Amino acid sequence: ITVFVSGATGFIALHVVHDLLKAGYKVIGSGRSQEKNDGILKKFNNNPNLSMEIVKDIAIPNAFDDVFQRRGREIKVVLHIASPVHFKTTDFEKDLLIPAVNGTKSILEAIKKYAADTVEKVVVTSSVAALANNIDIKNNNLVITEESWNKDTWESCQADAVAAYCGSKKFAEQAAWNFLKENQSSVKFTLSTINPGFVFGPQMFADSLKDGINSSSGIIAQLVRSKTGGKFYNYSGPFIDVRDVSKAHLAAFENSECAGERLLLSEDLFCSQEALDILNEEFPQLKGKITAGEPGSGPSFLEKNSCRFDNSKTKKLLGFKFHNFRDCIVDTASQMLEVQNEA
Ligand code: NDP
Repeated sequence: ITVFVSGATGFIALHVVHDLLKAGYKVIGSGRSQEKNDGILKKFNNNPNLSMEIVKDIAIPNAFDDVFQRRGREIKVVLHIASPVHFKTTDFEKDLLIPAVNGTKSILEAIKKYAADTVEKVVVTSSVAALANNIDIKNNNLVITEESWNKDTWESCQADAVAAYCGSKKFAEQAAWNFLKENQSSVKFTLSTINPGFVFGPQMFADSLKDGINSSSGIIAQLVRSKTGGKFYNYSGPFIDVRDVSKAHLAAFENSECAGERLLLSEDLFCSQEALDILNEEFPQLKGKITAGEPGSGPSFLEKNSCRFDNSKTKKLLGFKFHNFRDCIVDTASQMLEVQNEA
């Protein structure tokens, strides 16, 4: 069975590629340049079951046509993971909304045109951001479930980069469900979405920490590099370990009960203060050198600054236990410290 993974060079996707190869699947990944693709092939020791294709920019209409025209008939499963995850822009439509929405539409259009008879399962990596905007996620009167939707419009989500990122995930996910509704008779695939909270955990390859870290891992890296008494932004929300996000991508297409479902991936709520407490407790080399914040104040902060999540449906569907926050943070920071020590 051959699985297509878009954005295969990213933080989450590299774990997915690894897990797919380990499970015996053939993988076709897409990356943005020959150089990046060659790097990935080398990392996986030129595994004969892995090949890489170039998709330079998912913002461009029909971005996936070329690869699906050539290879669509090999592909049974599509995992669409590529999407911009950064906040360094003031042109929210160009840099966040349009690539997210066009990427989702163009991969589904390419399946319809070139692989309608072969692709049986599609998994789109969405986000908790599609379930609630960045303001609602802090509302302690709200309970978010697999049924929830971010209530922002295309216009209102452009208030700032974080809101626009959340909007990009909402409108991209909506585009996928709408596509399926409108094309029910011309494609045969079922659709599932993965809606993770903040994703932490070790990089598949430690080298990824050297050449520009992904956004969510950057939150932990900043704490590891903080200074005694230094200020920090207390991020809060649901978290999930990257290794569980990867496992869920496989379950989403392997387990037929996941067809048509949105999988809300959250182990628990977290805040940066709780991560600092763990770093100070678990790493003697960091204790006293990094900021302490107000140790122990995490739970009361979350009580006031976070909505609640009920993902019991997802947990039942997936049936495996997620990594807890302490293990996730210890594994994330251990890898960061190893790379720092080598430098
Ligand atoms: P990364 O930034 O590591 O991965 C994003 C991937 O998408 C990269 O491979 C990137 O390529 C590719 N990409 C971005 N923009 C374009 C574009 N215009 N054209 C082609 N490729 C593009 O982040 P993550 O691994 O964290 O994110 C993966 C997915 O998971 C995303 O859909 C994200 O929204 C979702 N997600 C992530 C969460 C998190 O906390 N990390 C939480 C919830 C959802 P390149 O690096 O070469 O630009």
